[in-house]
Amino acid sequence: MVLGRTVFPFNPLAERPKRHLQTRFQNAVSLNSRQAISVVEPVFVHNGSMGIRAFWIALLALAVIASCSVRQPEISARFYVFGTLVDVLVRDTDQATADAAFAEIQQQLQALHRDLHAWEPGPLTRLNQAFSLGRTVTLGGDIPILIEMSRWMEEMTEGRFNAAAGALVALWGFHTSEFPVSSPPPTEYDIRRILMMGPSTFDIHADGQTFSSGNPAVQLDFGGIAKGFAVDRIIALLESRGIDQCMVNAGGDLRAVGGSNRSPWRVGIRGPEGVQVGIELAGRGAVFTSGSSERYLEQEGQRFPHIIDPRTGQPVSGLVSVTVVSDEGWFADAAATALMVAGPDEWQQVAADLGLESVLVIEQDGNVIATQVMAPLLIAEQKVISAIRFVTLPAGRFSEG
Ligand code: ADP
Ligand code: MG
Repeated sequence: MVLGRTVFPFNPLAERPKRHLQTRFQNAVSLNSRQAISVVEPVFVHNGSMGIRAFWIALLALAVIASCSVRQPEISARFYVFGTLVDVLVRDTDQATADAAFAEIQQQLQALHRDLHAWEPGPLTRLNQAFSLGRTVTLGGDIPILIEMSRWMEEMTEGRFNAAAGALVALWGFHTSEFPVSSPPPTEYDIRRILMMGPSTFDIHADGQTFSSGNPAVQLDFGGIAKGFAVDRIIALLESRGIDQCMVNAGGDLRAVGGSNRSPWRVGIRGPEGVQVGIELAGRGAVFTSGSSERYLEQEGQRFPHIIDPRTGQPVSGLVSVTVVSDEGWFADAAATALMVAGPDEWQQVAADLGLESVLVIEQDGNVIATQVMAPLLIAEQKVISAIRFVTLPAGRFSEG
């Protein structure tokens, strides 16, 4: 029995592997969204590498700068969504076309911010409130498709990615824009109360556009996927206006289009001592990093990152960061979060299960591990490359064969 198969006009999940295992999610009702979303061909890309060990550690605190390898006319604009500045860069486009696109992007990002914010009052907080009260809600907009994407991620990662576990994120104080968080960590008792309820996106039922949850503990939090979704939305919008050379950089997480038949997009990851690493995107691609060193709760010198293992209710440990290079933003974003949860021992299997190929991980002790597929694509000094351990991912467990 295949679970929760949903047919979208353009199904963003169509090309992704499916599980064939029966799970506790088998009663899930398919969503019925009419959201259209752009689908890009799976293409793929490269990742950069680094300098010294300390620099890897610092990586998460860094901003990404993007540039073309050959100078040509570029037009850029800056936006804001979900607490992140978003730089949009287009090339080979006239000013009027760019301005019209930027105006639409501004509108779209405002709408996404309003609709998907996990704690500022809006559609998502109202939905969560309805879930906790056992009420039904009629939904349009982007929430249905995000539920569907999150559900797929939850299933493929066996619950490591769980967008319904917002109550745990809130419990740790991470529904805030102020970091580091300094409130005390939650008690084991409070964590258990949520874990016992086992909130899952598979508890959400949809009947047309009417949604309800059979589990009052379900609290949606799209913090691990929404930025990628927003980046995809911008790219789709630019492409629909005929702009096929563009880069969207959301605070270091980015997606680019159009580097293949032109000069490639070169993404520099900027460290304290300037640009240390280059990632070249020859074609299309999304590069998303999830990490433990930027947003965290700090108590008595101990740091608890804002990524929570939904199975234990505890913040993740073991990895400093995970960088995923893939085709779409939502997927790369959510996958990076899931691999942070998977940790040092399991990220390779989970990456394979998700059908990922290009992943780069920094462990707590500073070791850098990358998948073999990335090796020919890294731009770095030889001594940097030779310090990286390259691995071949195992076979994915859930792919259709
Ligand atoms: P960053 O890019 O800042 O490292 P992520 O993309 O990893 O962030 O997303 C972290 C956010 O995702 C958290 O702030 C929270 O909103 C949400 N989140 C935390 N843990 C999980 C999880 N296990 N599954 C899904 N979403 C999560
Ligand atoms: Mg993420």
